[in-house]
Amino acid sequence: MTVYFIGAGPGDPELLTLRAKKIIEEADTIIYAGSLVNPQVLNFAKTGAALYDSSQMVLEEVLQIFREAKRGGRIVARIHTGDPALYGAIQEQLDWCEENRIQTEVIPGVSSYQAAAASLKQEFTLPGVSQTLILTRLSGRTKVPAREGLPKLARIKATMVIFLSVQQIHRVVEELKRGFPEDTPVAVVEKASWKEERKIVGTLGDIGGKVREAGIKRQALIIVGDVLRRRYRKSRLYDRSFEHGFRKKKV
Ligand code: SAH
Repeated sequence: MTVYFIGAGPGDPELLTLRAKKIIEEADTIIYAGSLVNPQVLNFAKTGAALYDSSQMVLEEVLQIFREAKRGGRIVARIHTGDPALYGAIQEQLDWCEENRIQTEVIPGVSSYQAAAASLKQEFTLPGVSQTLILTRLSGRTKVPAREGLPKLARIKATMVIFLSVQQIHRVVEELKRGFPEDTPVAVVEKASWKEERKIVGTLGDIGGKVREAGIKRQALIIVGDVLRRRYRKSRLYDRSFEHGFRKKKV
């Protein structure tokens, strides 16, 4: 018996990994984060699989299902949105399983920040602009340590992707303006890779109003940084004069 922590990807079921699909097909018990996981990924479940929506449950109830599955020798798929390592609250489940000698495996998923980059047709690491990506969130009911608050991170001026915060876009903008200039480009992607996906682009100066007008309140990412200006140096990697272990100079 194993509990598989599965990244369901950002929404489009075709972005499931082959391994995730296989485990969903085999699982006897499926616990999924119903607030975010696309219900279409559950279509791969076998008939008779027991389905539980974790958005209606507390931790103890989830653990109780693991416990019963162990007794029954059942395969459990614990499905999280995107990649489970990001804001997935999986650690407490993994640690409990370890303490209770339940075998686990984590199957990575395509994160929503990757789907957003794809949808924007945007590279996050442009030479001469930014070579660093910061994944973060606004402090909310889950506190962000003070040393990594948005104003501090904004001062680095790296590319930033902000999760779990669009409902407070005005606060995000205020905090980012303490590091980035007002004309810094911003993109907001709602439901990246879903049929209903929406994209809004603007600057720190006007994105707040645009997002409010569009009525975007959840399941969206805020992407900030000069990479969105598309002014950059061409890569060294594919430059004629650059050679590396797999290619000689072509001059
Ligand atoms: N583990 C997930 C993140 C879970 S936290 C991942 O790797 O993507 C939930 C937050 O992720 C949401 O508030 C939203 O900011 C973001 N999110 C999840 N799916 C999304 C999608 N398809 N499009 C845009 N943002 C998404």
